[in-house]
Amino acid sequence: MKVFKFGGASVKDANGVKNVVRVLEKTGFSDLIIVISAMGKTTNALEKVVELYLKNSSELKGAIHNVQQYHTIILETLFDNKQHVVFKKINRLFKDMETTLSRNKSTQYDYIYDQVVCYGELIATTIVSEYLNQQGYENKWLDARDFIKTDTTYRDAEVDWEITQRSIQKKVNTKGLSVTQGFIASDKNNFTTTLGREGSDYTAGIFAYCLNADSVSIWKDVPGVLNADPRVFSITHLLSHVSYEEAIELAFYGASVIHPKTIQPLQRKEIPLYVKSFLNPADEGTSVKKGQPLDPYLPCYIVKKDQILLSLSSLDFSFIVEDKISEIFSFFHQYHLKVDLIQSSAISFSVCLDDKFDHFDVLIMKLKAKFRVTYNKNVCLYTIRHFTEEAVRSLEQDKDILLKQITRETYQMVVKE
Ligand code: ASP
Repeated sequence: MKVFKFGGASVKDANGVKNVVRVLEKTGFSDLIIVISAMGKTTNALEKVVELYLKNSSELKGAIHNVQQYHTIILETLFDNKQHVVFKKINRLFKDMETTLSRNKSTQYDYIYDQVVCYGELIATTIVSEYLNQQGYENKWLDARDFIKTDTTYRDAEVDWEITQRSIQKKVNTKGLSVTQGFIASDKNNFTTTLGREGSDYTAGIFAYCLNADSVSIWKDVPGVLNADPRVFSITHLLSHVSYEEAIELAFYGASVIHPKTIQPLQRKEIPLYVKSFLNPADEGTSVKKGQPLDPYLPCYIVKKDQILLSLSSLDFSFIVEDKISEIFSFFHQYHLKVDLIQSSAISFSVCLDDKFDHFDVLIMKLKAKFRVTYNKNVCLYTIRHFTEEAVRSLEQDKDILLKQITRETYQMVVKE
């Protein structure tokens, strides 16, 4: 069996959903699980809903209405029969979301977030599954929360592999076609959890691992994994072959084409990963497999915007070594700050951080009690894997560089945006 993943951009409108069928017609659709993300920018819109709810804002109803309106337009284009059961199902999901909000007693942002944003994926998969049925591609709709079990770290949940593997192997029928949600899971009390933004790729990896899939294909709006982000660089090249190790490195440094957690489960079972264009499904795209050398061998550029460069030094000129560094890292772990780059000297320690969960300001209060702290927000981290002198020279041009680091294969710099 195989696993396909379609992200938000691939189902952002009715044409996108129709194109999913076109892709399946090209590739075949037997013994296939399709993992789908929320449509277009729905997750961002639902984040806004959570914000307005917590502020008790009068704009809340309007924000929910906008999300519903966006999906209604897609529904009305896909289904001529206005009595089709899908209209009822989607209405039900919006009602459920509003009930969840009105009954909620928690003030914990991360928890509420997960109970609300999951509707993006639930709605998207309901629409796609019903559309496939209508077009004659009979399929099963699976609630990913029944299979993927996690701890209670809402918004960044850790998968419990043992329980997840057991329940997927026991309950998922690999024959035929199934449709399920990316990104969402549940904890031991059956509350919804999520796997981190862009986490649907990871869901595909989890299903593939637990079911010993033959392959995973991620369908994108780009031809595959490129050596640079086309939104930032004018000239880019398709990487045809990439090893698991290279893919993990690229994803870790911020290549947004694959979620960083996706590769590890695939690598453990040597399940090939294909990254392909949903617009040109017959094209080769990128294959990620064991040990294959990077082809073509080119410098790969990764840009991570909106990072924080934090420097700590001791208040009393004492060394910042193992004990203090371990204390600093336990703070990063506690506040879910992701470390991109580390540089240290005897009395100072610098890191480039990704504050995905907006916890930096709280963390700083803690650190200030113990260290002298300086930081720059909104910095940009550039990474070049397999750098050349020429690549470095042209990237550095006209940039205000705050920090640089070079290892054998990897060049990194932090610059002011
Ligand atoms: N819908 C989620 C997000 O926008 C998950 C995903 O797209 O992978 O982050």
